[in-house]
Amino acid sequence: MKIIQFQSCVVPSDIRQKNYLLMNNDKNSAIIPESDQLNELKNDIESPCTKRKIPLWLVFLDNIPTLILFVLGAIIVCQVSKIGSVVFFVYALFSVVYFWARICPFCHHYNTLACPCGYGAISAKFFKKRQDKSFKKVFRQNILIVFPNWFVPFAISIYLLVTRYTIEILILTITFSLIGFVVIPLISRFVGCKNCEIKEDCPWMKINIQNKDQSISA
Ligand code: SF4
Repeated sequence: MKIIQFQSCVVPSDIRQKNYLLMNNDKNSAIIPESDQLNELKNDIESPCTKRKIPLWLVFLDNIPTLILFVLGAIIVCQVSKIGSVVFFVYALFSVVYFWARICPFCHHYNTLACPCGYGAISAKFFKKRQDKSFKKVFRQNILIVFPNWFVPFAISIYLLVTRYTIEILILTITFSLIGFVVIPLISRFVGCKNCEIKEDCPWMKINIQNKDQSISA
């Protein structure tokens, strides 16, 4: 059985006690909880870091650039198709709801105020908690849903720059790219996810950490 290590969070004494019970169970101790009890204990131990309350300004800081990105993306797509622009915007909103439905229910921050962007609390209002797969696995399997929000407008803006360059399209492309590829990742790395207790488990933060290590060693 995996022994969970607690890092920067305060672990309540009853959870420490439960952890002790679980570890003793591994060593064939005389104390053997029922399997339901074991699951309950495991859940408690795996979710100890949910006491943090993210301030509202941080929730806005996390969401406003994303909303601006969607609007800019729709404006870029609109240069080639008005219907396409509506489809893009609806898809972008759908991808957020999909994220609430398919990723957040597996997260430690589900139904807590510890989620940096507030999705964890919204997700709990509409979708049930899930524990049948690991968060890491679910994140990797579903995160592709949001990629078109970045790459479709970016690809169209490059196409527009090549085929019908104007200063407005150049400004749109630069603004979109700065928000999508610089501002949003920087907010996640240095503000939203900076003090998150589960960032070691988060594939998104792992990508950021790897990029940081590569830029230091370069
Ligand atoms: S931290 Fe991410 S996955 Fe977890 S609840 Fe918040 S938005 Fe969802």
